[in-house]
Amino acid sequence: TATATRELLLSRIRDVPDHPKPGVVFKDITPLLADPEAFAALTGALAELCVRFGATKIVGLEARGFILAAPVAVRAGVGFIPVRKAGKLPGATLRQAYELEYGTAEIEVHAEDLAPGDRVLVIDDVLATGGTAEASLELIRRAGAEVAGVAVLMELGFLEGRARLEPALRGAPLEAL
Ligand code: AMP
Repeated sequence: TATATRELLLSRIRDVPDHPKPGVVFKDITPLLADPEAFAALTGALAELCVRFGATKIVGLEARGFILAAPVAVRAGVGFIPVRKAGKLPGATLRQAYELEYGTAEIEVHAEDLAPGDRVLVIDDVLATGGTAEASLELIRRAGAEVAGVAVLMELGFLEGRARLEPALRGAPLEAL
C-alpha cells in the first residue's frame, strides 16, 4: 500500500484500551468507516488485491469482515460469501471448530456457496492469533474450493498470527494493508 494511503488508514484506526476486557487494546475501525475517503481507499486497495490474487469469490469473516468484504466484492465484480459464527446461517452448512485462548469457537459457511473451481480471497479487519482465518481456510478447502489469499486491514504482529496461518496458507499470500 502506498505510504499516503497507509498513513490515512492508520490515522482512522482508534485504539481502545481494555476493550472488551482488561489488557486488550481494541482496534476500532469505526472512524475509518465514517470517513468516505479512507473507506474508499481501503476498499480500493482490497479490490486491487482481489484482482492481483486472481480471486473469483470473496469470503468475509463475521462481523467487521462483512463490512469490508461486501463493498470490495462489488468493486471487484465477484460474489460475496459470509462466514458466520455457528448457528446463524439458515441453510445447509459446513462447520469448523478452532482453538481460542480459552475454549473453542465454531464458524460456518453455506455449503452451496463454495465449489471446486472457485478461488477465494478471505477478508477481515484484524488478524490477531490467526485462529479465525485459519478455520476459514479449512472451510474453503473442505468445500473443494481454492484459497486465493487472505487480506486484512491490520495484523497484530506480537500475536504471531502470520506464523499460525502459514501452514494453512500453503503458499497463498497473506497481505496486511
Ligand atoms: P483471531 O482469530 O485471534 O485472529 O481474531 C480475529 C478476530 O477477532 C477478527 O475477526 C478481529 O475482528 C477480532 N479481533 C481480535 N483482536 C482484536 C483487536 N485487538 N481489535 C479488534 N478486533 C480484534
